[in-house]
Amino acid sequence: MSDNSFNSTPDWSDVKRALVIVAHPDDADFICAGVCIQMANLGIEVTYMVLTNGDKGNHNPEITRNQLIAMRQIEQRKAATLSGVKEVLFMGEEDGFLHSHPDIRKRVTRAIRRIRPELIICTHPDRYFVGEGYINHPDHRNAGLIAIESIFPAADNPMFYPDMADEGYHPHKIKYLYVHGHDAPSLKIDITAELPTKIESILCHKSQFSDPEGAKQRWLEMWGERQEDGSLRYYEAFKEMKFG
Ligand SMILES: [Zn+2]
Repeated sequence: MSDNSFNSTPDWSDVKRALVIVAHPDDADFICAGVCIQMANLGIEVTYMVLTNGDKGNHNPEITRNQLIAMRQIEQRKAATLSGVKEVLFMGEEDGFLHSHPDIRKRVTRAIRRIRPELIICTHPDRYFVGEGYINHPDHRNAGLIAIESIFPAADNPMFYPDMADEGYHPHKIKYLYVHGHDAPSLKIDITAELPTKIESILCHKSQFSDPEGAKQRWLEMWGERQEDGSLRYYEAFKEMKFG
C-alpha cells in the first residue's frame, strides 16, 4: 500500500447483507465490483439497486428505447452474477433526469427495510467534477442524494411511512455507509485479485463499449497504482461512515 493514511482492512464481521445504490446499469460494476466480489466470497449477500432504466445509454438508431432498457437489464444481471451478487433491483426512473422525489425515496426506503443491509454503498451527492476532464453525470449525484435521504431520516424512523409496517417492513438502521467519489476517502481496499472478474463484469455491458479490448487496456493503465517494487496494484476507495 503506497499510502498508509487509509484504512485498508474493513471489518465485515457484522455484515450479512450489503446494498449498492447507483444510477445506471454498469455504475456498480465500475465503482465497487471488486469489493462486492470480496464480500460475496465471504458469504455476504449483495444486492444492486439501479435507479434509472439506462434508456439514454446508446446512440444506435436501430435500437428502440424499450429494446435498450431490456438489453441493459440483461447485461446488468450477467455482470452481477459474475460478481456473486444475489439480486438486482431495477427502479425504472428515467435516465438523465434522476432526481429526489417522494415516490422514489419511499420505494428506496421500502427496499432498505425489506433487505435490511448492514452496509450500503452509494455515490457522492456533491461530486460535480471528476478529475480535470469530466463533468460528473448528474444522475450519479442524485443517486447519492436519494440513497442518503432514504437512509436518513427515513429508513430507521417509524414515523416515516408507518403503513410499511403493515407490509412487514419495519424501520432499519444501517451500520456502515461507503460513499464513492468522495474528496477525502478513508477506506481504500486492494482489489488486485478481483480485477480480472471486475473487468469481465464491466464488459458484460456490451451496449456501452464499441472497443472492449481497447477499453480494458486503458483501464489497466489508468486505474493501476505503481508500487515501490514496480508492480501495479488496484484499489476501490470510499469515504466510510459508521453509525453506532
Ligand atoms: Zn453512470
